[in-house]
Amino acid sequence: MRTVKNVYLDYAATTPVDPEVFEAMSPYFTETFGNPSSIYSFSSRSRAAIEKARGQAAAALNALPEEIFFTGSGTEADNWALKGAVKKLRSRGGHIITAKIEHHAILHTCEYLEKNEGVKVTYLPVDGEGRIRMEDLEAAMTDETILVSVMFANNEIGTIQPVKAIGELCRERGVLFHTDAVQAAALLDIDVRELSIDMMSISAHKMYGPKGVGALYLRKGVKLENFVHGGGQERGRRAGTENIAGIAGMGFAMEQMKARLPREKPRLCALRDRLIDGILKAVPRAKLNGAAKDERLPNNTNFSFIGIEGETLLLDLDAKGIYASSGSACTSGSLDPSHVLMAIGLTHEQAHGSLRMSMGRHTTDEHVDYVLETLPDIVAKRREMSPIWEA
Ligand code: PLP
Repeated sequence: MRTVKNVYLDYAATTPVDPEVFEAMSPYFTETFGNPSSIYSFSSRSRAAIEKARGQAAAALNALPEEIFFTGSGTEADNWALKGAVKKLRSRGGHIITAKIEHHAILHTCEYLEKNEGVKVTYLPVDGEGRIRMEDLEAAMTDETILVSVMFANNEIGTIQPVKAIGELCRERGVLFHTDAVQAAALLDIDVRELSIDMMSISAHKMYGPKGVGALYLRKGVKLENFVHGGGQERGRRAGTENIAGIAGMGFAMEQMKARLPREKPRLCALRDRLIDGILKAVPRAKLNGAAKDERLPNNTNFSFIGIEGETLLLDLDAKGIYASSGSACTSGSLDPSHVLMAIGLTHEQAHGSLRMSMGRHTTDEHVDYVLETLPDIVAKRREMSPIWEA
């Protein structure tokens, strides 16, 4: 069996910085390094770089430049949206609604707010494909509800939520709507106005930009308590000397991503569908986790192979030059099954035998062929060794 080296299938974890993005960033390390807050003309070039990036990010989302606030990560944007909204609106009510399948950046923030701010949080269940039900959301809303935070698309199983319907319901009820679009923003055309989104978190390193920079879209007029206190950066909303190179890279990456999307999306969908169909055909009792093809992210596949451990599978794939991820998170020594896979109703065994392969700009047909020729054998061999596997 051949080994093709470096078949990277973990774009949902992070993406490489695009060489053109890297080039766009490089002057801001060594040449145009002035502090944007200084008043001399040299620094105005740093300020201009930030404002250019703000415009690029806004244009990609149909937002206004003044509605984009750069942060240090998607996680920070999530924290700011939730904690900032609660601080600002606490007197109006103390209830927020989110979903069980959210990223830990949201879930752990909600737990923090429950413990420290006395906020009540409703964690909506999801259907077998990972979607919330609108009737559950409607039923959960009370006079105390101040915020709904439901992710745009899931990072593990790729399921896309009914964002437009959620946005419209929230607008109608006068409840703030935040969505974590860290995964979705790289792969879907997002128009924050059309979708009635009030706040949205994004992150550069999922879209061929650098790590350590993200942004919060904050609709004009939405009141949010500031999160990082200090200087007057980001119009006093998010203090700290700006990561000029990172911000310039994020803006450029978003502009480039938007321009590429019309060609890249169908290309990824075709690769994804070939991989899904191939695996389901070649591996007995393989299960696809998540939604049907038109309601899942163009680059996401997630399978369960009962009778094997996802972690073992990852090591076997690694030995074959394939880099993927599993639905288990090794937390403090214990192997917890993914909360997302449990929420869609999988058994512990199914959740432990899961594999996420997420594709991207450098994924080719040859990569998909190689996985299809490698993975079924690995699964078969591991199942032969498994004490619990019964064909
Ligand atoms: N939200 C989702 C859905 C994610 O997938 C991630 C990262 O994997 C984050 C938030 C966190 O983003 P960042 O890595 O920029 O902190």
